[in-house]
Amino acid sequence: PRGGAPPRIRRLEESVVNRIAAGEVIQRPSSAVKELVENSIDAGASTVSVTVKDGGLKLIQVSDDGHGIRCEDLPILCERHTTSKLSAYEDLQTIKSMGFRGEALASMTYVGHVTVTTITEGQLHGYRVSYRDGVMENDPKPCAAVKGTQVMVENLFYNMVARRKTLQNSNDDYPKIVDFISRFAVHHINVNLSCRKHGANRADVHSGTTSSRLDAIRNVYGASVVRDLMEIQVSDENAVDEIFKMDGFISNANYVAKKTTMILFINDRLVDCTSLKRATEFVYSAILPQASKPFIYMSINLPPEHVDVNIHPTKKEVSLLNQERIIEKIKDAIEEKLMNCNNTRIFQTQA
Ligand code: ADP
Ligand code: MG
Repeated sequence: PRGGAPPRIRRLEESVVNRIAAGEVIQRPSSAVKELVENSIDAGASTVSVTVKDGGLKLIQVSDDGHGIRCEDLPILCERHTTSKLSAYEDLQTIKSMGFRGEALASMTYVGHVTVTTITEGQLHGYRVSYRDGVMENDPKPCAAVKGTQVMVENLFYNMVARRKTLQNSNDDYPKIVDFISRFAVHHINVNLSCRKHGANRADVHSGTTSSRLDAIRNVYGASVVRDLMEIQVSDENAVDEIFKMDGFISNANYVAKKTTMILFINDRLVDCTSLKRATEFVYSAILPQASKPFIYMSINLPPEHVDVNIHPTKKEVSLLNQERIIEKIKDAIEEKLMNCNNTRIFQTQA
């Protein structure tokens, strides 16, 4: 009401604050899967298996053979801002792990039911424990366990009516989950990643471990994609003010697809960069006007202090120092590659 007394300002209860924050970190089932798989890779796992029921709304289960979690850490495991990866703010500048905020597991306990089973090396048995709203529901129970950690998230968004409805109405999140695991499999070639629907015998992604990137792409995206890929490398290591390196594979003039596949890792983080994607698509449509959308895998490495990883709660976006110049360099390199292969193609058709 205009002119009336101003409304009182009150402090929100901590549980309300936490649930609001949790909804930002875990936006949909696929974001939970991403966080869990990143935790497994951060834990040094060489095998990570994902099982999903009802597009992740009923069940998400991620099992790994990583270093496990100490029994004495289990009580605070799912509290907000508890992490083994970061201690001082300055560490953010050089952090190598994908996680750093200690918010993912906590968030999941505010919007779902989380059960963790884990065993560390040299132990005779593991422990199982469930969490709700950041706290342990019971003392950890000793149980049989194989190496590593299994995190189970059940009934995601059970307490967020609108979110659950939207997700139930929208298409199942499962394709997003498969897509995300596929991207990870292409980058982490020494991690055996797999993903299946609960109860299915066959995995929908099964990367295997390999020593070659092309093999990894073949295992996940198929031999027909690999046939039309060219290797690409760009570096700018001589510049005084900037050091960056890009390695990747890009599709040639023969590749056919309706949608761009852009798998981008910056300092080993799976991220989106709309301006780089647009620039790449632009080069393709300029040089190969008839051709389809490209397939791109790029791994960009920069000095960690040139990347700000902390601009988005999901860490999906990062911001780069000298972004425009980096994009320009990459664009030039793609252009050169495409011109060359296009010339060869014309030459071949004429011959
Ligand atoms: P963050 O990854 O940002 O540290 P998380 O909430 O995702 O925060 O995880 C909290 C902590 O739990 C991690 O720092 C790590 O020590 C431990 N952890 C989580 N998942 C695993 C796992 N799969 N294996 C071993 N430790 C794990
Ligand atoms: Mg994490």
